[in-house]
Amino acid sequence: MNRRLTLALPSKGRLREPSWSLLEATGVAPQEPGERVLQTFCRNADIDLLFVRADDVPEYVQDGIVDCGITGLDLVSERDFDVDVLLRLGYGTCSLQAAVSTEDAAQSFTDLDGRRIATSHPRIAAQWLAEQGLTAEIVRVTGSVEISPRLGLADAIIDLVSTGSTLRTNGLRSLGTLFESEAVLVGRRGSGDHEAQRTLTMLLASVINARATRYLLCNIAKERLNEVTALLPTTGSPTVMDLATPGIVAVHALVPAAQIWSLLPQLQACGASSILTLPVERMMP
Ligand code: AMP
Repeated sequence: MNRRLTLALPSKGRLREPSWSLLEATGVAPQEPGERVLQTFCRNADIDLLFVRADDVPEYVQDGIVDCGITGLDLVSERDFDVDVLLRLGYGTCSLQAAVSTEDAAQSFTDLDGRRIATSHPRIAAQWLAEQGLTAEIVRVTGSVEISPRLGLADAIIDLVSTGSTLRTNGLRSLGTLFESEAVLVGRRGSGDHEAQRTLTMLLASVINARATRYLLCNIAKERLNEVTALLPTTGSPTVMDLATPGIVAVHALVPAAQIWSLLPQLQACGASSILTLPVERMMP
């Protein structure tokens, strides 16, 4: 089906800026909205944009007010919305963790049995407690979950953690993780025939793949080529080209960005020279 797509983006908070820059990186050219403007469009694609709170995105998608949207996986799971997760976006990563005061004797999840737990994710918490065979009273709070133990509102908390610094600042200690979250693209159930949505999903995936990849170039003496190719953590075949200087070849390969750090010294030790790494804009396997 070829019709305009409406995409909901987070209007504020942690997910706003990275969602906007990911969309810009796809090349659809989102038109910068004016101040307090909640709707805009893309100059290079048949996509309209609507800015809503990340919390509201799953409901807007489920109810058909928009075709798809970007939100946190935790927000989709917490209220069990009837939407399809089309793509994990690799930012907004955090985990839902159970934590107690550093002075509390609890050492593991089982020590939470029979206690009071404050959380703004009561559904995920209740499901997890049931899976663990634990009984606990859930105290639903909407913000500042981490001060609940100090206020005497609860013995423990279940809250989103990214670096752990908020837990530490509030004198809390994690007992472990019960749910991993990140930003996701969600679409209406069964909306797979929407052509613009399929194209957008593919473009977003190509940028996410590219961000995790570097284009590596280096020169190596022909007789050491096998040593270099054996080192390359690439799934596809590297490109090997003769240079003007006899006996030397250039090797080009796509490698995971996370492995550049350990790979470069090994390449150098192998005799590789003129080693370059370049960012990749888009990558479609
Ligand atoms: P916000 O609009 O800033 O409240 O965004 C909330 C969403 O950001 C959450 O639902 C999570 O998906 C994500 N997130 C990432 N890291 C954290 C964190 N440390 N605390 C809360 N939310 C986080």
